Amino acid sequence: TSFVVSVSKVETDLGQGALVCFEDVTHLEQAGQMRRDFVANVSHELRTPLTALMGFIETLQGPAKADAAASERFLSIMMAEAQRMERLVRDLLSLSRVEAEERVRPTDKVDLKQIVESVLHSLRAVAKTSDVTLRTDMDDTPVIVPGDRDQLIQVVTNLTENAIKYGGRNGTVTLSLSTTERAPQLRGPAAILSVCDTGPGIDQIHIPRLTERFYRIDTHRSREQGGTGLGLAIVKHIVNRHRGRLRIESAPGQGAEFRVILPL
Ligand code: ADP
Repeated sequence: TSFVVSVSKVETDLGQGALVCFEDVTHLEQAGQMRRDFVANVSHELRTPLTALMGFIETLQGPAKADAAASERFLSIMMAEAQRMERLVRDLLSLSRVEAEERVRPTDKVDLKQIVESVLHSLRAVAKTSDVTLRTDMDDTPVIVPGDRDQLIQVVTNLTENAIKYGGRNGTVTLSLSTTERAPQLRGPAAILSVCDTGPGIDQIHIPRLTERFYRIDTHRSREQGGTGLGLAIVKHIVNRHRGRLRIESAPGQGAEFRVILPL
């Protein structure tokens, strides 16, 4: 805990006195520390692909200059590193936008069923390459919530991409959609969108930290899969902006379920 203490002289009816103020600045210190950690993380994440790029450029200017096969290989690695930087910048911009908008409530009417269908359509090919079966569990009726369409697409996309990436080969990813008269978390009617996978699951100790920026269980695996470590942080901010809740349930060996509860 941090305090700022200030002392000043005061005149009172009883004569001269001293006024001592204690101001709790713990939250300011913590915010400052978080900002410093974030800048350090971003710098590190950007520097890694940059260092690799510079290394390959040097090699291409020197030893590998005349070797066409090596040049070809290095160029494709360089492209992958540049794409990684691009993904990181894109996710940083998304995160900063949704954080800035968090206090503004979205007012458009959005059909979650349509969103699930369009995300499934755009991720079918990715799922196929990873031998993952995508299925849905929802009624024919639309589920309308007040929301921001693009942001809700991003929520469903990020959660489904993760389920495909971390759910493992030959797994099944199920997207379900339902409504309830009274969600205990919101004390009112809500839509419940759930993304379930049949992967290795997540240890309890990691669950509360998954939505922190750059928190990954296995950094190497995340990078290999093209992850930036920002996907779930973005999801959390979008869900907050919609006054919703994000619940993560998982146990090792039992798959994972990410549930988004949104007020109707
Ligand atoms: P990343 O870009 O690394 O995927 P995210 O913020 O989307 O970042 O996710 C953070 C971490 O949470 C991932 O690195 C991964 O370790 C873990 N994770 C996310 N979704 C799942 C899942 N469905 N099953 C197991 N682990 C997951």
